[in-house]
Amino acid sequence: MCAPGIAPFAKKSFDTLGLVAVLDQLQRLQRTPRAAVVRNRMPGGVSGRGGDSPSYSITEVGMDFTIPPEIRQKLKDLDAFIEREIKPLEEENIQFFDYRREHARTDWDNGGVPTKEWEELLAEMKRIADMAGHYRYILPNDLGGSDGTNLGMAIIREHLAAKGLGLHNDLQNESSIVGNFPVVLMIRDLGNDAQKGMVEDMLTGAIKIAFGVTEPNHGSDATYLETEAYRQGDEWVINGMKRFNSGLHSATHDIVFARTSGDPGSGHGITAFLVPTNTEGFNIDFYHWTFNMPTDHAQVTLNNVRVPESAIVHNEGEGLACAQHFFHENRIRQAASGVGATQYCINESVKYASERVTWGKTLSTRQAIQFPLAEAHTENELIRNLVYKTAWHLDQRHHMEVTDQVAMANYRANRLVCHTADLAMQTHGGMGYTRHLPFEHIYRHHRRYRITEGSEEVQIRKVAAHLFGLTGRKR
Ligand SMILES: Cc1cc2nc3c(=O)[nH]c(=O)nc-3n(C[C@H](O)[C@H](O)[C@H](O)COP(=O)(O)OP(=O)(O)OC[C@H]3O[C@@H](n4cnc5c(N)ncnc54)[C@H](O)[C@@H]3O)c2cc1C
Repeated sequence: MCAPGIAPFAKKSFDTLGLVAVLDQLQRLQRTPRAAVVRNRMPGGVSGRGGDSPSYSITEVGMDFTIPPEIRQKLKDLDAFIEREIKPLEEENIQFFDYRREHARTDWDNGGVPTKEWEELLAEMKRIADMAGHYRYILPNDLGGSDGTNLGMAIIREHLAAKGLGLHNDLQNESSIVGNFPVVLMIRDLGNDAQKGMVEDMLTGAIKIAFGVTEPNHGSDATYLETEAYRQGDEWVINGMKRFNSGLHSATHDIVFARTSGDPGSGHGITAFLVPTNTEGFNIDFYHWTFNMPTDHAQVTLNNVRVPESAIVHNEGEGLACAQHFFHENRIRQAASGVGATQYCINESVKYASERVTWGKTLSTRQAIQFPLAEAHTENELIRNLVYKTAWHLDQRHHMEVTDQVAMANYRANRLVCHTADLAMQTHGGMGYTRHLPFEHIYRHHRRYRITEGSEEVQIRKVAAHLFGLTGRKR
């Protein structure tokens, strides 16, 4: 992590603005010891950096805009690793990445799920990355990781996405040489001992866990979900339906969210159950065919599915804590990838516009081409800073304390990358529309994030709820 402080500012310019006091305050913060930092403290807790105040005043957090040296080094190591070990594998399997990508990846005659060959290639990429010590970066040492930070992950994810599409950082199912482990981290923090014992198998792929919140009648308003569970003897009996339950074509388990008490709409009374997918009564009805293929987004019926008490993840009735944990991990990484992919689209467009000649001049000389790209570039810089800041906060505080900031970063990054992929298609003209270039694929993938993991509207709603004091800090 970066040390708090303010590095290269010119004191003179602050003098002329009468802001010396601010600078002095920031320099004092630079010297603040970091020993008191406690990651993931609970909201309203008494320990941790910045005292008890949950606000984000400048006097509390300090600033340092330099990328920590260990993360800069990590990026160099990753670049070398990609060139040495991942690119050759990608070249050997180029049909999964060139204009044939959607066809090569999709088992069209089997519900449109991923082909076996495609998933084997992804598994091999992860295995090599794990052996090289990159895959588990974000995980703690005791899980074989590097005790990485959210800030580090954000910078790495952005860097990988900015390199363009490839085996190092595929979009279709979010595979990467630096893994994102929302379910592993959720189980580590909220699971019981038996569930924690599954973590190593989850990392090697022997156990795969899907996540079932959404239902045919309820998505955004998940607290109204209709799947129910009741206790019978030592067991729980679950009935209901799930929709878009991703990953079920190969999952060994599904985390099923069901109401066990309370009224529809209440955040309390929803319980998360870890259900083996081979349990009697757990039926996959079909997979939804989606904008980006392959699909693994299943429709599920749960018909008197019986699980023991030990299947509960976290506490009975407190399943939403699991969902929030999962979403925050995912949202900040998606936002960072969005920033990287946006930068890739801008860079490629600038390159093309600098070479492509129309009416005797390069496109790059035309303001109609320059301005939209310059605006996207500006907005990306704004969002990048918000993503870094939010990731940094996630390293210092409990994730629920910055839930509105995560939402801001996520929805703006998702929106921008879709806009910029479209802009890249426009700048590249007819070629931009073809599958020989990657922009259509970037668009189709990132477009889903404006709907999933909390749709754009749901995230704006969250920001509004904090702004108006309906929830969170101002309540
Ligand atoms: C590719 C893909 C993968 C997915 N994977 C999973 C998964 O693994 N697990 C899982 O549980 N779910 C998954 N989902 C489901 C996803 O989380 C939901 O689609 C999403 O939450 C939206 O719910 P909905 O589709 O029911 O839309 P609805 O809730 O019906 O909303 C429809 C539209 O109205 C907007 N809207 C709703 N309420 C309001 C409001 N009060 N104010 C303003 N606008 C509103 C929404 O933002 C949306 O744009 C996946 C979806 C897709 C497409």
